[in-house]
Amino acid sequence: MINIEKSQPAPDCLEVEKKKKNGTYRCEDTYKRIASDFFGKCYLCEYDKPSGINIEHFKPHYQGKNKDRKFDWNNLFFSCSHCNGIKTSSEIELLNCINPDHKIIDWIKFDIKPFPKELPKITAINKIPIVENTVELLDKIYNYKINDDTFSSTKDAANNLRHKLLLEIEKFGKLLKEYYEDEIDSSSYEKKILKRKIKKLMSTKSPFSAFKIWIIKENITFKKDFMT
Ligand SMILES: [Zn+2]
Repeated sequence: MINIEKSQPAPDCLEVEKKKKNGTYRCEDTYKRIASDFFGKCYLCEYDKPSGINIEHFKPHYQGKNKDRKFDWNNLFFSCSHCNGIKTSSEIELLNCINPDHKIIDWIKFDIKPFPKELPKITAINKIPIVENTVELLDKIYNYKINDDTFSSTKDAANNLRHKLLLEIEKFGKLLKEYYEDEIDSSSYEKKILKRKIKKLMSTKSPFSAFKIWIIKENITFKKDFMT
C-alpha cells in the first residue's frame, strides 16, 4: 500500500448516473480514470496483474442505500478480488491512500526477506488504531491463514500473491547487486541506466513499491544513492 494521487475533478458520468434510478458507478470514464490513477494496481496489495481487478468502495454503500458513497469519486478505489474479498464491507477505519495526510510509507513498515517461502512482515510504526487496523488487514491479505493446513481459494490467492511479491523483490535485488558490482565504473553510462531502472521499480507506478522503498530506506548506502 502506498499513497497515490487521485485525478480531479470527478468524471462527469458519475453525476449523470447518480441521477438515474438504477445508475452505475462503473461508467466508462470512471473505470479508465481509476485504472490510470492507480497505475493498474490494487491499492491494497499493490499487485498489478491479478486475475480480477475492479472498482471498490472504500467506505461501503450498502447495496446503493448510501447513494452519496456509491457515486462519490473519492470513495472509488481500484482493488483486486482477493483484497476486496478480505476487506469486506466494513466501517472499520483504515488508512486512506488518497489522503496525503496519511503517511503510509512512514507509518507502516513493509518487509520481506528475498528467499523462497519467506513471509511478508507488515508492522505499525505509528501505533494508532487506524494504522493498526490497516496493518491487520494487510497481514491477512498477504499471509491469509498461513498456519492453517486446510485448503481454501483465499489461502491459495495469498500464496500466489506472495510468490509474485518475491519475484519482484528478487528482480529488484538483482539490479541492486549489479549496481554495486566493483567492475562498474561509478560514472559510467551502464551505472546510470541501472540507477534509472532501480528508481523506476521504486516508483508508485511499480508493483509492490512499498516493500522496495523499505529495502532502500533501511540501508544507509542505498538511501544515500537512491533517495536523495
Ligand atoms: Zn489486492
